[in-house]
Amino acid sequence: MPKDVMCEVSSCNYWGNGNLCQADQIYVVTHVEEEKARTTEETDCHTFKPKLH
Ligand code: SF4
Repeated sequence: MPKDVMCEVSSCNYWGNGNLCQADQIYVVTHVEEEKARTTEETDCHTFKPKLH
């Protein structure tokens, strides 16, 4: 398990200062239907939750 997850999605509820994710765990998915992801752009964090404020 990674020690720190770096993330620049500051609009996420789990985002923390220094670009550190504060979630206990994250779930990363591919959004390429019925194919394997081949590039960074084809993956996404599924744990993302919009900030409420
Ligand atoms: S949950 Fe995902 S999108 Fe949100 S801060 Fe963590 S890594 Fe980034």
